Amino acid sequence: MRTGYDLELVHLTKRYGDTVAVRDLNHVFARGSYVCLLGPSGCGKSSTLRMIAGHEDVSEGSIVLDGQDVSELPPAQRGTAMMFQSYALFPHLSVRDNVAFSLRMKGVDKPTRHARANELLELVDMTHLADRLPAQLSGGQQQRVALARALVTEPKVLLLDEPLSALDPFLRIRMRTELKKLQRELGITFIHVTHGQDEALALADEIVVMNDAVIEQAGAARDVWARPRTEFVARFIGGHNVIALPVSEGGGKATVRADAVTLGPDGVPATVTAVEYQGASVAVTATTSDGEELLALLPEEQFYHAPKSPGEAVRLSWDQGRLHRLQA
Ligand code: ADP
Repeated sequence: MRTGYDLELVHLTKRYGDTVAVRDLNHVFARGSYVCLLGPSGCGKSSTLRMIAGHEDVSEGSIVLDGQDVSELPPAQRGTAMMFQSYALFPHLSVRDNVAFSLRMKGVDKPTRHARANELLELVDMTHLADRLPAQLSGGQQQRVALARALVTEPKVLLLDEPLSALDPFLRIRMRTELKKLQRELGITFIHVTHGQDEALALADEIVVMNDAVIEQAGAARDVWARPRTEFVARFIGGHNVIALPVSEGGGKATVRADAVTLGPDGVPATVTAVEYQGASVAVTATTSDGEELLALLPEEQFYHAPKSPGEAVRLSWDQGRLHRLQA
């Protein structure tokens, strides 16, 4: 028996007219996990999230939370909450009143809702700015208010739709650390939609990769990274080379991690097309005579021991044991 609060999607389908945005999804989100829904634009991530939140009708199938079918319930009665982008804060309300807003809608008296809002502001480290208006806050601070506002209803599941996309890169990394810490402290399920593989790898206990309205692969972040099931996942998650296997080895395709590829006297001949310094490593892209593009991620000391430039001929090799066969 599973304990409560699991969120389950059962044959979940969403159609907009003739467009199938989400096709027959079946998935169980484990209680208390940080899950990233990862995939390219248009693959159905937001539609899935909005159906879970109750902001979009389900065309077919159901959403079960804690053993109860919530598919037909209004958003406020589901036990879920959606964190909206920071720009959705009410501009004329103070930070505290923004956070307390949904409690006011529920008829909670003022002292109680303010006390609760103060607790949440404490949690996101915003107590000192409680009387400000949203326009008087930085982007990161607005983000924290949006988070507190979503959490004030004590949801079992917090839904986040591209929550960091409006932030500059520096702040994005800081906020994702805060999100992760908060999720650990609260122990509730976070479902976070992103199209950034680095964001998903950094945050997720489980990554659910979507493509073209279906789940392409779901698993622990390290598993999805190390063992992509399909060429789509391998290419989308990045850092891998997809290689056609010779017919003598049964054909099909395999991946090899870019950090398992070395330059040396032996191996596949290719011409360097790009060299990118990345700090700890250097990314060397080279094209074979068949037009196949290969990426080698070399430790920077190793690269500068025998540096290469675009146009130079190289040979790339890897240990056969590092090949990971993809499903057909
Ligand atoms: P993602 O979040 O992965 O970018 P969406 O769930 O937003 O994907 O969209 C999935 C598909 O559904 C896309 O083809 C999109 O154009 C379509 N779609 C999304 N919302 C609507 C809508 N309100 N009406 C019609 N089509 C929509």
